[in-house]
Amino acid sequence: MSDTCLVCDEISGAVPVPGEHLETTDLVTVFQCPVLAPATDIYAGYLFVVPRRHVAGFSGLTDTEAAAVGLAIAHWSKALELAGAERVYVVRTGHAVDHLHVHLIPRWPETPKEVSWLHVDDWDGARRLDSADAAEFVSALRATRSF
Ligand SMILES: [Zn+2]
Repeated sequence: MSDTCLVCDEISGAVPVPGEHLETTDLVTVFQCPVLAPATDIYAGYLFVVPRRHVAGFSGLTDTEAAAVGLAIAHWSKALELAGAERVYVVRTGHAVDHLHVHLIPRWPETPKEVSWLHVDDWDGARRLDSADAAEFVSALRATRSF
């Protein structure tokens, strides 16, 4: 594992992600948000869309990379909705890792109305998966991709 960038390590495979990459092209990679430990605490469908090139934010993307990232956000939001998400939140923070990673966070229909978008993945009844179930979920999500 590189000690310089977690996202680069997730792209290269040095850091495994549940169910492997959903999509990988020359420009963009999409994968289920990994949770290294505990492996029983993976929020179902929480995806990262990342440019393959190490770049800190949107302003550093080429036009071609920006288009690829935007298309991946749209495509995988659609896949999550086809899987039953009632809404997909798209968030970019970049606070902890200096490699652009866009968060796609599904809101599943059983989520109570009083749970805000910020806590949709950490309320008591949030859909939690272990590593095996997360890999199965990713495989099913990949199968919905018809775009
Ligand atoms: Zn990086």
